Amino acid sequence: MTNLRIPGPTPCPPEVLSAMGRQMMNHRGGEFMKTVLSVTEKLKRMFQTDNDVFLLTGSGTGGLEAAVVNSFSPGDKVLSVSIGVFGDRLANIAKTFGADVTVLKSEWGKPADPQAIKASLDNDPSIKAVMVTHNETSTGVTNDLETIAKTVKPYNKLLLVDAISSIGSINLPVDDWGIDVMVTGSQKSWMVPPGLAMVAISEKGWQANANAKMPRFYWDFARAKKSLANGGQTPWTPAVSVILALDVALDMMLSEGLENIIARHIKLGRMTREGVKALGLKLFADEAYASNTVTAVLGSDGLDAKALNKIMREEYDIVLSGGQMELEGKIFRIGHLGWVNEREVEDVLVALKTALPKAGFGGGN
Ligand SMILES: *Cc1c(COP(=O)(O)O)cnc(C)c1O
Repeated sequence: MTNLRIPGPTPCPPEVLSAMGRQMMNHRGGEFMKTVLSVTEKLKRMFQTDNDVFLLTGSGTGGLEAAVVNSFSPGDKVLSVSIGVFGDRLANIAKTFGADVTVLKSEWGKPADPQAIKASLDNDPSIKAVMVTHNETSTGVTNDLETIAKTVKPYNKLLLVDAISSIGSINLPVDDWGIDVMVTGSQKSWMVPPGLAMVAISEKGWQANANAKMPRFYWDFARAKKSLANGGQTPWTPAVSVILALDVALDMMLSEGLENIIARHIKLGRMTREGVKALGLKLFADEAYASNTVTAVLGSDGLDAKALNKIMREEYDIVLSGGQMELEGKIFRIGHLGWVNEREVEDVLVALKTALPKAGFGGGN
């Protein structure tokens, strides 16, 4: 079986795949509506929140667009903290819909600096919101979101978080940290296929929503709230199969326990980093902030990262990710989130040992 080690889509357990294969049902019928309500409640437990949670049919990026258009009006000043490709994407979504976006960037591979966020907020009191990526999948860096949230809190701004590749694997207590709008996606930590974005909206998020004038139709939190309250419906036909699958996956996750899931990812993250370093490779991310869901490895010492991924795929049936945008060809990435254990990571490390020299590693430069 292919060892799919990319940071999403992640492999699905057989129980989840069986649920995906179920016959269609009426999405306005009792059985499905009950499932929507139960999935929503289970997600609240995984998100550690009492806030409103909605299932939106679309990919994670759709969820980010939903978060933006439901929170802002054109011309609103937004501080967008970006440490990589996905941070830039979030800033671009807000710009596309007419927000007045200030992008606070960190060097790729480094986390966001809470003090720099504080300085930006001090400099411009008219900023309404802070947007930040929790786990930057493109660079393998996890921001210190707890400290960022604490830093932003006294300023009373809306805090909008892309947690697409973190929550469900990396600890993110939405209520404790005061996250106003949180977005995740089904194909990352959740062990189900792509097709759903899941969002959590705080009271402050609803206040922003009431004043938000950005155009929206499909992505409308107020409509989602009204439909959910109507017995567990969604405004439009949802990805029925993915919701059925998520119901099963959440039962598996709840029976493993959130704390155990987080501990498993901490262990797998450490194991991956120690393993690649033991092979003589260099991590791309600042190690103090290295992600426990995806490891970015630098193509040092003659290594052709693209050639490596091809060899891994063709000779070992292991699928790794490459670098995105400026990092294309410069790094490779190993996903270790969702339905994964030590065995799959160990297999990657063992294969790398023989694959690396074939991809030029050890040849200098
Ligand atoms: C995967 C990912 C996205 C994009 O999600 P899609 O489902 O591909 O639209 C956005 N942000 C982060 C941090 C991601 O890991």
